[in-house]
Amino acid sequence: MSNKVYVYIDHFAGEAVPASWEALGVARSLADSFGGGVSAVVLGEGVDNIAKQAVAYGADEVTKADDSVLKDFRAEAFATLVSEIVKSAEVFVLPTTSRTRELAGMVAIDLDTGVMPDVVAFEVQDGTVLATRPIYAGKLMTKVVCREKRPQILTLRGRSFPKPEPDPTRSGEIVDVVAEVGDLATEVTGYSDAEAGVSLSDAAVIISGGRGVSNNPSLTPPEGITDEGEQEIWRAQKGFELIRELAEVLGAAVGASRAAVDAGYVPYAYQVGQTGKVVSPDLYIAAGISGAIQHLAGMRTAKTIVAINKDTEAPIFKLARFGVVGDLFEVLPPLTQALKERLGK
Ligand SMILES: Cc1cc2nc3c(=O)[nH]c(=O)nc-3n(C[C@H](O)[C@H](O)[C@H](O)COP(=O)(O)OP(=O)(O)OC[C@H]3O[C@@H](n4cnc5c(N)ncnc54)[C@H](O)[C@@H]3O)c2cc1C
Repeated sequence: MSNKVYVYIDHFAGEAVPASWEALGVARSLADSFGGGVSAVVLGEGVDNIAKQAVAYGADEVTKADDSVLKDFRAEAFATLVSEIVKSAEVFVLPTTSRTRELAGMVAIDLDTGVMPDVVAFEVQDGTVLATRPIYAGKLMTKVVCREKRPQILTLRGRSFPKPEPDPTRSGEIVDVVAEVGDLATEVTGYSDAEAGVSLSDAAVIISGGRGVSNNPSLTPPEGITDEGEQEIWRAQKGFELIRELAEVLGAAVGASRAAVDAGYVPYAYQVGQTGKVVSPDLYIAAGISGAIQHLAGMRTAKTIVAINKDTEAPIFKLARFGVVGDLFEVLPPLTQALKERLGK
């Protein structure tokens, strides 16, 4: 099959990254413009199920390399194979993840073409994809094209495009290719669980806490905790407990500002912002976060932003759709309670 539109299915620990299916949906609409069907690329070890899912989500053909050498993502191996598979494509679409940022760049170098990263919208004009992407921490949008070079490579910002409904009755061809990757210079020696419990990138609802989460002087730490820094962290844990309770009721992920991370309240995996995760949930609740530009860079595309802050002048209120001026320790418990009742939990 000589399809013009290819899509990369990113996965980890046996599960496709949900943004891969959003990318597949975009690939389908691009195929309407470019003609032909959609080819998905699935590389890894034990990826039969992901290849079948790709068909259900809209791929007409899946090029699959299933080999122990591909057990772990290594950009050097994956880029070699992907470049060979997509070299005659018109368009190659990937979800934006930490792995695909590396992969897309390497494939573009191999194929002497360009990458349009972190795309949030696009149109097709005379066979050219005109992509829109945020720049300057989301303050401006820019439009980019790949000039005459092909394939046109674009990585899509997660949750910016709808996820298609899977249709398990769809049929598609699954083509196995040999994983010829040559000698590899790197080896993955293991994984550690830094991100356990946090899945910010895919979350539809996120509740984030900032430095304000530790600001409750009326909470008295136990006698043994005399160090001021430890007392602050103890208070922050109480504050984050309130955030977690609300998150549980709403099925939300928990995030944080950099100040909260730097102060040791929560691990780095929680950080939202310019040097943390960029998220685009339907609902983002910021509690005790001032709204510094670097924080806004990570969440300004959230569909609805709610801010809870003691300070009426906090910059977060300029971006928020709903603002509650108050102490988060007083606002969160009744909010959680009211939502519990409303949602029957
Ligand atoms: C290069 C660079 C990169 C950066 N990257 C990031 C990034 O990725 N993410 C990020 O978040 N920041 C980042 N920062 C840091 C950023 O500039 C801010 O310092 C940080 O976002 C502030 O975090 P905060 O809002 O939690 O703290 P603060 O600015 O101290 O704000 C705390 C807020 O809590 C409110 N508050 C206090 N007590 C309560 C209470 N009891 N109830 C309700 N409200 C209360 C206060 O009114 C205040 O508005 C970066 C900075 C630099 C220079």
